[in-house]
Amino acid sequence: MKKDIVSFTLDGQTIIAKLGQTIMQACDDAGIHIPRLCDVEGLRHQGSCRVCTVKVNGRTTSACTQPAEDGQIVESETEEIINYRRDLVRMLFHEGNHLCPICEASGNCELQAMAYRLGITQPTKFPYLQPVRSLDASHPDIALDTNRCIRCGRCIRASQDIDGKGLFGYVGRGIHRNVGVNGDNLAATNASLDDVAFSPEICPVGCIIRKGVGFKTPIGEREFDVPAPQEKAAPLPPLSGARKKRIATTSLAGCFGCHMSLLDIDERVIDLMRHVEFDRSPLNDLKTFTQHCDIGLIEGGCCNEENVHVLREFRKNCDILVAVGQCAIMGGLPVMRNAIMHSDDPLKECFEEAYISSPYIENERQRIPNDPALPLILDSVYSCVDVVKIDYQIPGCPPSGDMLWQALSALISGKPEDLPKELIKYD
Ligand code: SF4
Ligand code: SF4
Ligand code: SF4
Repeated sequence: MKKDIVSFTLDGQTIIAKLGQTIMQACDDAGIHIPRLCDVEGLRHQGSCRVCTVKVNGRTTSACTQPAEDGQIVESETEEIINYRRDLVRMLFHEGNHLCPICEASGNCELQAMAYRLGITQPTKFPYLQPVRSLDASHPDIALDTNRCIRCGRCIRASQDIDGKGLFGYVGRGIHRNVGVNGDNLAATNASLDDVAFSPEICPVGCIIRKGVGFKTPIGEREFDVPAPQEKAAPLPPLSGARKKRIATTSLAGCFGCHMSLLDIDERVIDLMRHVEFDRSPLNDLKTFTQHCDIGLIEGGCCNEENVHVLREFRKNCDILVAVGQCAIMGGLPVMRNAIMHSDDPLKECFEEAYISSPYIENERQRIPNDPALPLILDSVYSCVDVVKIDYQIPGCPPSGDMLWQALSALISGKPEDLPKELIKYD
C-alpha cells in the first residue's frame, strides 16, 4: 500500500511530509523557515529566485519545487548554501537600481530584509549594471517602478491565476527581461486597487507602489525594522605603549551627513581621541596629508575628476580604506543621474535639468556654470570601489554613530570583525 507520508532529514533533523508536498512546504509545516523571495503562499511555485536553494542528497535544487521523498538528506543552513544565497541576493541588488534611502518600500521590503538576514553588509562583489528601466506613473493610485523589479513573477502569477485579469507579463529576454503591463500603460488597463496584483503582500520589493501611502510608517515601526542593540560597545582597550592610530577623512560627492553621524558617538569621542589622531580631514580643516595614515574614511562617491584624484590620494596614503555610507559604497543619491547616461548628451541634459528646467530654479540668464576652475564632471557617477580598492564598507545613509563606533573600535583594535547584524542598515 502506498504511504501517504514520507520523511527526510533537514540539517540532521527528521521532517515528516505529506505525500506530494515540496520540501519547502514540509519545512513550513514543521515550523522551519527556508528563505525565499519568489515563492508566496497561494501562488503556484515558480522556482526562479533560487534563494531557497538547498542540497538534496548532495545536489543543489530549489526547495520550493523539489518534492519531498523518503530518505532524502537535505542541507539548508550550511555555510556553503548560505554563501550561495548571499551571492544570489547580491546579484539582485546589482542588476537593478536599488536606492534604499529613497525607496518607499524601505523597511517593508523582502529583498532588503533578506540581505540583512544573510548578513550582507553591502552587495559590492559584482559590478553595478545600473540598467535604464521603465517607471509608469500614469495610474492615479498606483505606480510601477521596474528599476527595483527582481522578476519574481508574483504579480504575474497573482494576476493570471487568481483574478484572471492578466495585468502583467514578462517582456524582453535574458538580462533585459522585465515586467511589463499588458496594455499601453497602467492607466490604460483600467486596473484598480482591488486587483489582486496590487495586494500589499504580492510585490516583495518597491515596484508596485500605492501612491500617497509611501513613507507613512515611521522608521522603527516598519515590517522588517529590527531594534538596534541598546548597549554601547565596550570602551577601547588601553594603548599600552602603541602609538595612536592616524585617521584621515574626506567627503567626495557626499552631503557631510556621514561626518555628522561620526559626532553622534557623543562622549565616546573622548575615548576615541585617546586612541587616534586626525590627519587630513574636514574635522580639523587639514587639507593635505602630513604623514601616512592607518585608516582613511571616505564619504561620498565620485562625480567629478577632483573626487577621483582625492580618492586615489587617500588610497596611496592610507593602509586601510573604508567606504562610509551609501554614497561611497554605490554612488548614493547622485547616482540617479546615471539613468540618463544613455541619452545622446547626458551631461547636457543633467546640467539643463539642474540649472535651467527644474521648477525650483530661478536662472533668468539661463547660464550653466562652466568656469575652467571647476572640476570636470564625470560621464556618470561612480562608487569608490569602481575607482580604487576598498577594504571595508559601512552601509547606511548615514551609518549610525553606534555603527561607526563599533567599526572604528574594531579597526583601531586591529580586529575587524562582523558587526552585529541589527546595526547594519541600508537606509
Ligand atoms: S527597499 Fe527594497 S526595493 Fe527598495 S531599493 Fe531597497 S532593496 Fe530595493
Ligand atoms: S513587479 Fe514586484 S511582484 Fe512583479 S515581478 Fe517585479 S518584483 Fe515581482
Ligand atoms: S550616505 Fe547619506 S549621509 Fe552619507 S554622504 Fe551620502 S547622502 Fe549624505
